[in-house]
Amino acid sequence: MQRKKLVIVGGVAGGASAATRARRLSEEAEIILFERGPYISYANCGLPYYIGGEIPDRKGLLVQTPESLRERYRLDVRVRSEVIGIDREARTVRVRDLENDREYEESYDALILSPGAIPIRPPIPNLHHKGHLVVRTIPDVETIDRWIRHCRAQTALIVGGGFIGLEMAEQLLGRGLCVTLVEALPQVFPPMDPEMAAWILSTLEKRGITVYLNDPVIAFDEPSLDESAAASVAVLKSGHRIPADIVILAMGVKPEVSLAEQAGLEIGELGGIRVNEHMQTSDPNIWAVGDAVEVKDLVTGQWTLLPLAGPAVRQARVAADNIFGRPSVFRGVIGTSIVRVFDCVAGCTGASEKRLKEVGIPYLAVHLHPSNHVEYYPGASTLHMKVLFHSENGRLLGAQIVGKSGVDKRIDVFATALMAGMTADDLVELELGYAPPFGAPKDPVNIAGMIAQNVLQGRVQLAQWDEVDHLDRSTQALLDVRTATEWKSGHVPGAIHIPLQHLRNRLDDIPKDMEIIVMCRSGNRSYYAARILQQQGYKVRNLTGSYLTWKMGRYAKEAAQPKPSKEEDKQKRATSI
Ligand code: FAD
Repeated sequence: MQRKKLVIVGGVAGGASAATRARRLSEEAEIILFERGPYISYANCGLPYYIGGEIPDRKGLLVQTPESLRERYRLDVRVRSEVIGIDREARTVRVRDLENDREYEESYDALILSPGAIPIRPPIPNLHHKGHLVVRTIPDVETIDRWIRHCRAQTALIVGGGFIGLEMAEQLLGRGLCVTLVEALPQVFPPMDPEMAAWILSTLEKRGITVYLNDPVIAFDEPSLDESAAASVAVLKSGHRIPADIVILAMGVKPEVSLAEQAGLEIGELGGIRVNEHMQTSDPNIWAVGDAVEVKDLVTGQWTLLPLAGPAVRQARVAADNIFGRPSVFRGVIGTSIVRVFDCVAGCTGASEKRLKEVGIPYLAVHLHPSNHVEYYPGASTLHMKVLFHSENGRLLGAQIVGKSGVDKRIDVFATALMAGMTADDLVELELGYAPPFGAPKDPVNIAGMIAQNVLQGRVQLAQWDEVDHLDRSTQALLDVRTATEWKSGHVPGAIHIPLQHLRNRLDDIPKDMEIIVMCRSGNRSYYAARILQQQGYKVRNLTGSYLTWKMGRYAKEAAQPKPSKEEDKQKRATSI
């Protein structure tokens, strides 16, 4: 094979993966890796856990060092070297050696850009205090650690409730700080739908983290004259003022495209570098991968940004393959992600209901709350699941799961099924590993498929949690078939209560001229009830996810309302006395 000179910009997830794959494909190639920062191939996904002390040693974050890459892969690794320009005609890059303050040019036959993304810092007044910090690189977390020690920080404000904000909230609380989290959207963890994200929210609140939703930070107070003063005060849109010794800015990232833009490469509508399925940019000698590129969403068929490590390293492999004569393809993404927040694990894959509505794909939403493994085996816990199917052909479109245990296994099964284009029928047929500590003969994934199959085959119709508060009580009635004890512990106002075991004997108590929405705790017993009523000639729908989903949906709605100010709180208390 002809000797090629490959230059790579960015030495972390995408860049380092492309370099090592390239070496495995060609012993002959000259491979130069430029990295602006002092470290290469480090685990940015582990950064929050280093701050919290779960990863005790910084060395644990360094997957490779320049030396190890040089020795094992014979790569020319140049850290503290920023690529500042590309001459596409001459096929050269201009490099600034930050260590020695000099510039030089390096030629290439093929160039891979993996420059990552930049944390978003909106133009919020006074967002320049020393304690306003981002989490992106090892130097960033070193700064955070130094600042916490320097000012003996006791309070932290996390701005942003995405996965980085959530992980930082968990880790800083674990470090003994009192944590407040502010999110501009009406929910945390935006890839999920609000009634599912509410399980995460309730976990945060149970742990003592105050969460403001739907309430962006609009300003910070003027910083004090003493630059090293700890507290800065954030002002929210609602007027709430939150003092904090450290502020973590976790408002998302945007693709780092300055080099690509300057080189005249095509940039997509979402602001990422446009690439084809071979990860090739609009210049046939330049490839781009990772957080900086736009990719195709396999569910919606639209361009998207998915700044996650898995896609970055897979794209890197594809780029290297194509450069070294192996025509491979990056098909696109489905947005599989997972986050741990204390004892709560939340995972999702595919499209959310919000997204399906936006793009106009007809869907069927199924909620269920099965156990992670058979209940007779000690330690069973509930999985809260939402699964979305195409309402015409039954194809799986997305899944969201929250629970304490077993989330990772199920979300990865759904992700695999989604990539394979499986339908509800296929999920029913899946043969998954079962022994009492791990699952059930009917795995939650099978059950999701069965529920959808029942609907698609017309055996039952579903009602959704957000319909319950808007029922027309002159034509629709809500029937709760839980036990008396469950009913006493909480129920939907205005529902008829008939426990399932008494249903056949009390049919006269159920109005025949109305549509009956049946509910129980999770939607399982109410399905039996719906089948009984249907066969008696009633018009029935089963409330999917039933009481648990309705309760979380309500919780989500209430949490999205503005929090009362201290003054309003005082007045409320005074009038209630
Ligand atoms: P990066 O890994 O960011 O690498 C880009 C590198 O390019 C940077 O080091 C930068 O210094 C360098 N660079 C940029 N411009 C130049 C230039 N002109 N010259 C030289 N060098 C340059 N993803 C997950 O899937 N799961 C997780 O749990 C997860 N957790 C995360 C936690 C945190 C705190 C963060 C910040 C990210 C997390 N991610 C996670 C996202 C994941 O780390 C990124 O998607 C992935 O690193 C992207 O790879 P990349 O190569 O595109 O960019």
